[in-house]
Amino acid sequence: MRSCLLSGASCHLFCLWALLVGPVWLQNASHHRRKDHGGGDEGVVDKPKLLLLSFDGFRWDYVNRVPTPNFLALKREGVKVEVVENAYITKTFPDHYSLVTGLNAESHGIVANEMFDPALNRSFSMETDSIYDPLWWEQGVPLWLTNQKAGGRSGAAMWPGSDVKIHGEYPTRYLEYNASMPFEDRVRKLIEWFTAPEEQAVDFGVLYWEEPDESGHNLGPESSLMDVVIVDIDEKLGFLRNELKKARLYERLNLIVTSDHGMTQLFPDKIIELDQYVSRDWYTWVDKSPVVALLPKEGRLEEVYSSLLEANPHLNVYKKEDIPEYFHYRHNDRIMPILLEAEEGWTIVQNRSGTFMLGNHGYNNSLPNMHPVFLARGPAFRQNYVKHSMRSVDLYPLMCHILALRPLPNNGSLANVQDLLVVGPSQAPFAGPTGSPSSSSGPPGGVTPGYSYAPTVGSLLGVVMVLGFLMVFVKQVTLKQLPTLPMQSREMSQPLLQEDLHL
Ligand SMILES: [Zn+2]
Repeated sequence: MRSCLLSGASCHLFCLWALLVGPVWLQNASHHRRKDHGGGDEGVVDKPKLLLLSFDGFRWDYVNRVPTPNFLALKREGVKVEVVENAYITKTFPDHYSLVTGLNAESHGIVANEMFDPALNRSFSMETDSIYDPLWWEQGVPLWLTNQKAGGRSGAAMWPGSDVKIHGEYPTRYLEYNASMPFEDRVRKLIEWFTAPEEQAVDFGVLYWEEPDESGHNLGPESSLMDVVIVDIDEKLGFLRNELKKARLYERLNLIVTSDHGMTQLFPDKIIELDQYVSRDWYTWVDKSPVVALLPKEGRLEEVYSSLLEANPHLNVYKKEDIPEYFHYRHNDRIMPILLEAEEGWTIVQNRSGTFMLGNHGYNNSLPNMHPVFLARGPAFRQNYVKHSMRSVDLYPLMCHILALRPLPNNGSLANVQDLLVVGPSQAPFAGPTGSPSSSSGPPGGVTPGYSYAPTVGSLLGVVMVLGFLMVFVKQVTLKQLPTLPMQSREMSQPLLQEDLHL
């Protein structure tokens, strides 16, 4: 290998090359940086955009039972995760808050749809206005607020908690909860917010839809009538895709489609009646089946516990301190002293006078039927890539990364899911749309918005070249006519490697 540094002629050539090329390289790096957050119209500075959509109760395998061309398109255009382990307990409010905080329920404090807080001496129910009391929500900080604190703007269409003034602040734009507002209107509102003038546009949005949860409860997930419901959800996803295309957002926006939990079939003969085993006078019933929270009356803890412990082989009975650590469901005052967990398919009631549902969720989060769907596409994501598994709490650090936000302490891990991204934090620069078998339809210009390390490396190379020139220049001035010295530095001889590359 020849040495450049100490050969007079080569040295002059290198000086000339560095002088000419270095500034151009720096200029190119700067150009890359300007486009770095783009991916949209040429020359337009554009922040990363992210929309998180939850179809409540959309079980992971619903996409396999009827044709769902829009879900299929998302898979082809982006990523799909086959197994998503959601947070325990697998109910709507806890799991939706886990998605936007990255926290397990014991850490974010929304431990159930129905709760009692002994310190506050208040009750929470998703059926009442108690949900608008911010105190329930303030053990966690939802991503829409973190985005706003960092200078972003958030838009929320009826995500649980998003019309509550948490930590003194609402989302920048939001809709008050109104179950009768059509999905299509919610979509139009979000697109209006995303496409507002630069100084008003949101860059992070959350969108919630009540189905197929409601139908799953009423019909049972295994009913053939659910097929129509799933087709309807796919068409709603199709509507969203079309509206995003019409608004010229489709290629610029990162879209994540997921859910809070799945759904399992219930059976009328699989009923556990507590009245058969324990007196109602001994406890307060706090949360409903299939994971029931009981608050024993003063001095009745042991009696309630021992009465139920061997009551039914399809019922797990835990004192709070004995709840398995892997549930991450123990360390919060809102978790009651006794927890009853039904086996999948079983229902816990006090007696049979209540209404009976054909489908339910809330069961152990290791059960496949409790798992939600997960697909994502957009400039941040790889294409046609299927990942085996993740945890729903991993989504929070992933979304923070996409939005270039510093995540708050959370139970998730970006490392667990970074392979979903075009270029992960530790991957090589200049990689472009990596690892994808069909990456040719990547974002315009082949630039990966917000994720390319090319600008940094370009800048560094430019600096190295200019420094190299200066070193050589100084050397030439101070060490004239010296004979050639042995030079071992591979770094400084690298320009010559270019010759080798032509071989
Ligand atoms: Zn739900």
